[in-house]
Amino acid sequence: MGDLRAEIRDIIYDYDEDRITIATIGSHSALNILRGAQEEGFRTLVIGTKDRIKMYQRFGVVDLEYTLNNMKDMLDPKVQDDLKELNVILIPHGSFVAYLGTDAIQHELKIPMFGNRYLLPYESDRKLSADWLKTAGVEMPRTFESLDDVDRPVIVKFDGAGGGRGYFMLSEEELQKVENRTDYVLQKISKATGKKIKELPPLFIQEYIFGVPAYLHYFYSPLKEETEFMGVDRRYESSVDNLGRIPASKQLETNISPTYTVVGNIPIVLRESLIPKVLEMGDNISKRAYELAEPGIVGPYCLETMITEDLRIIAFEISARIVAGTNVWIPSNPYAYIYYKEPMYAGKRIAREIKNALRDGMLGEILT
Ligand code: AMP
Ligand code: AMP
Repeated sequence: MGDLRAEIRDIIYDYDEDRITIATIGSHSALNILRGAQEEGFRTLVIGTKDRIKMYQRFGVVDLEYTLNNMKDMLDPKVQDDLKELNVILIPHGSFVAYLGTDAIQHELKIPMFGNRYLLPYESDRKLSADWLKTAGVEMPRTFESLDDVDRPVIVKFDGAGGGRGYFMLSEEELQKVENRTDYVLQKISKATGKKIKELPPLFIQEYIFGVPAYLHYFYSPLKEETEFMGVDRRYESSVDNLGRIPASKQLETNISPTYTVVGNIPIVLRESLIPKVLEMGDNISKRAYELAEPGIVGPYCLETMITEDLRIIAFEISARIVAGTNVWIPSNPYAYIYYKEPMYAGKRIAREIKNALRDGMLGEILT
């Protein structure tokens, strides 16, 4: 790990700072990232399959393109050399982490990256993220080691569920009716995902929080040493967000239960009296990140929460990089506009931090 850091520092040292290219994989929040980079005057590069690149070209956000059929080929030394030749700074996002994996990002990807690559395992590994959040004083849902211990409604999750596909809710009453709770649940997941029972990853059983989802977006600036609150969104999930259109009696007749496949995002503004708590949570999370993995959190991150009727903010996940929910506010949202006194969104804010770091000779502080 130490070696790679030194290697990255050397690469940054060799970069032509007048010819930096902002690059990302064409997926997830790439429109946001690339448009923001253009607005701040950077050359952009999109990495992806031919058809995906075409999509980004149609939006006019691509200066350069790099075609790969398999994203893992980014780890190929020849590809990495080509990218370094262009003075590339990579911007990680959800698909980026999913395609390459946190191990490869930490040990094999030798291209300067905006943000802290060593914090990415803290978003992917549920134990590590719980450690981060709980020690930052953030309230989280209860978890259950075994289905036999379940005494309240729960949501059943498992790794590799792209965007919540295959998650489902279980009530205690439903579990009480079955003899073998584990068999029952595994069969349910197998049916929902089309996977054989023995191929299923370990389950994660979490207390179901009744409330409303609120995804809190922050940006930590190492240059300003400050956590900025950038806005809030919620996911638009199929089918849970549409169940209200079906009368309860019909739901019972047809035995419908909610699913959580993300199809988009919706912007939110918060009740204003919640904001002091939101700011305090962000400050504590940023502070704790520095103690967990140097150089701490850099740039955008997102706390995924449910807010209950008694206004508790309960977090069930954290993402240590840009999330797709920030796509809802290009060119701005109310909080970002008030704070920055100009339209601002995540992609532009990332590029602004890079621009300021170049100006101040501090690129090494924001790249790993
Ligand atoms: P896609 O390119 O849409 O197949 O998405 C690639 C990855 O990003 C998948 O793991 C998705 O679950 C995730 N993803 C894409 N869009 C969103 C979104 N709006 N919210 C959360 N995750 C997303
Ligand atoms: P995740 O993939 O963990 O971000 O969760 C996907 C979706 O599942 C969320 O957007 C929520 O709608 C729902 N969800 C996740 N965890 C909980 C929870 N503990 N209680 C209620 N709903 C949840």
